[in-house]
Amino acid sequence: MTTLTADIRLVGHPSQADVDCLRETLLDCHRRFGTYRRGFEVAGIGAEDLLASDPVELLGRLDTLNAEDYSLLADESLAVTDAIIDMETSSGTTARPKRRFISAHDASLEEEFLADMFAVCGIGPSDRVACLDVDPLAVMASFTAALESLGVRETYAYTFSPSLGGSLAGLSPLDPTVLISVPSIIERCLPVLTSEFAKGRGGHLSKVVYVGESLSAKTRRTLETKLGVEVFGYYGATETSALGIECAAHDGIHLFSDRNLFEVQSRGEGATGELLVTSLRLRSMPLLRYALGDVIEPKPGPCECGLDYPRIEVLGRSDESVSVLGASIGYEALYDAVYDVPGESMQLVVTGEARDLLTIVLPEELEPSDSSVRDAVLAGQPDLEFLVTGGYVDFEFSYTYGRESADSRKLKRVVDLRESHVG
Ligand SMILES: [Zn+2]
Repeated sequence: MTTLTADIRLVGHPSQADVDCLRETLLDCHRRFGTYRRGFEVAGIGAEDLLASDPVELLGRLDTLNAEDYSLLADESLAVTDAIIDMETSSGTTARPKRRFISAHDASLEEEFLADMFAVCGIGPSDRVACLDVDPLAVMASFTAALESLGVRETYAYTFSPSLGGSLAGLSPLDPTVLISVPSIIERCLPVLTSEFAKGRGGHLSKVVYVGESLSAKTRRTLETKLGVEVFGYYGATETSALGIECAAHDGIHLFSDRNLFEVQSRGEGATGELLVTSLRLRSMPLLRYALGDVIEPKPGPCECGLDYPRIEVLGRSDESVSVLGASIGYEALYDAVYDVPGESMQLVVTGEARDLLTIVLPEELEPSDSSVRDAVLAGQPDLEFLVTGGYVDFEFSYTYGRESADSRKLKRVVDLRESHVG
């Protein structure tokens, strides 16, 4: 690890080819994006420096890219990029949904990259792969394209419906060997998976790849012991596309450092910190030092599997957000939909039984405006609206803020009581 500044360090060691890609990206960002040109100016970096100086050192002089800059960059990307063929969105953790525009060039790079990652999990020509999601047209569509290019025997995007029995009954005759899904869906399907899909029950499921949120240790153990499958974590985000995947040694996530350059911005002592992502290949919306909001810990030493890519453990979010069926719901965005001014009382509580329940807890005096508050919140949160209207999650308001606490200032803003998220 190389020290760049007091609190930001590179994760891994970029090769000469990676450094060359970084120079190309910096030049491209300077040439096409006003948002970045302003950043270079502030750091005292001119076009001639980008050609002559060490690109890693130059990158180290730039400010990190936050959610607000990201939004400006998206507007600019739409204006300066030719041949945009796709857009990914998520509700995001701030008030505006995050948008990433994707050109044909980037889409084909992405497909090749995903195929490389799935090969690391040992997925190959003999596999039948089921991608299971509430909205399979989102990230899963790029997965199935990549799996086809990898030459798997069959691949299907399968919609998980809220009526549990029906949704997996259709999947069973397809007899998948690999299941790709989000942890909250995997958890809901566990009883059916163990009774119908396990090898001992006539099924051939041998691998589960989880995406979008963290998997509890308990669920991983159940999958490994009761279902007898190998579990792999996929790591990516709407804003960055794919980032890395767990290998067969199961000792952390390998970050593909020839696709993105990674840094960790530590907070205080230790190696733990927030991950910063810099694009090396993508051109429609290149990122320079984007602070993704994930807290990670780099893992020391080489991996048993022989891959050179650095490994990390993803520890959680640095902001106040919760993940529901893979969709990130942020406290700040909900707050901004409810109130126009800062400093008011609000708490977000998530509980889960058969379905997840999101409760926004507000002071009693807001109760008369119930329906308008509800409309405002859902209007600003397309992912949440989709999950609520589709019957995947329950959503309610409770006008009991502070009623059970002597000092409401001490109430936590986000409380996640779902079993998978508390240990
Ligand atoms: Zn490995």
